[in-house]
Amino acid sequence: MPKGRIMKALSGFYYVESDGNLYQCRGRGVFRQRKVTPLVGDFVEFEISGNEEGYIQVIEDRKNELVRPPIANVDQTIIVSSLIEPVLSLNLLDKFLVMVEAKQIRPLLFFTKKDLLTEDELVNWMNKLNYYQNIGYSINFLSAKEEDLDIKLATYLSNKVSVFAGQSGVGKSSLLNSLIPGLELGTNEISESLGRGKHTTRHVELISYRNGWIADTPGFSALDFQQLDLEDLPICYPEFVELSKNCKFRGCMHIKEPKCAVKEAVDNGEILAERYDNYLQFVDEIKQRKPRY
Ligand code: GDP
Ligand code: ZN
Repeated sequence: MPKGRIMKALSGFYYVESDGNLYQCRGRGVFRQRKVTPLVGDFVEFEISGNEEGYIQVIEDRKNELVRPPIANVDQTIIVSSLIEPVLSLNLLDKFLVMVEAKQIRPLLFFTKKDLLTEDELVNWMNKLNYYQNIGYSINFLSAKEEDLDIKLATYLSNKVSVFAGQSGVGKSSLLNSLIPGLELGTNEISESLGRGKHTTRHVELISYRNGWIADTPGFSALDFQQLDLEDLPICYPEFVELSKNCKFRGCMHIKEPKCAVKEAVDNGEILAERYDNYLQFVDEIKQRKPRY
């Protein structure tokens, strides 16, 4: 059976790319008995039934899947934060990082609207955010309208399936519009603040981009910790993971335990204090969460 990848889902059809052709497919495999629904991004085996038409028979195991947007096998999530309007919140940034790390998807950090800052303000942010680079994240400062944006971002977006995520109003749609000619997503914060969710009626599609693909609709923008178990929180912090080998207690949560290497690193300034404070706040948020039934 030919193999391919679902690029688009629309009106009950799945559009499977295989050897440069696009097949309009319906789902018909045993996966339906397991209540698995094909997702954009899925690698599938399908049966050709006519001229560029077919039936999906097998869905290969997924390495990950997102709910918003509904996509499987994502290589990286671009967390978009604006430096201003709305002003950058490290608390929110850390929360997005936790959510993406928890899914074991690689996060990349794009900071937008740099054109609205003075040189000094920009340098201040760069110095502060350098911390995130030091702990292993790739960071990028940009504005949606700058020239040659696609060339600047090419190295980050090539050969990957990328999904953009971030708070409303930070410039996700503007970035997608700049990168993908003809996309023309609506860009104003007002529609979302009125609760109309400007992307709700769109289908999801992976747009081919520099040998990779970009999801043509921004992903999750509001977050809570509904899904995350408390003991999984510390492993969402790459700089904690290495240090925790030196904590006295195995399974140390780095809260009040004695001889905690993470807390020592906070005290000596190796770990950004603000980030650790956010961590403690997330611990509380998860602890206070109502149990789900
Ligand atoms: P989204 O909600 O994250 O998709 O954000 P939008 O793309 O809709 O952008 C929100 C507002 O910020 C719009 O008015 C955009 O024109 C503006 N905007 C987005 N990126 C930039 C940028 O880099 N510089 C400036 N000055 N404005 C931007
Ligand atoms: Zn510890």
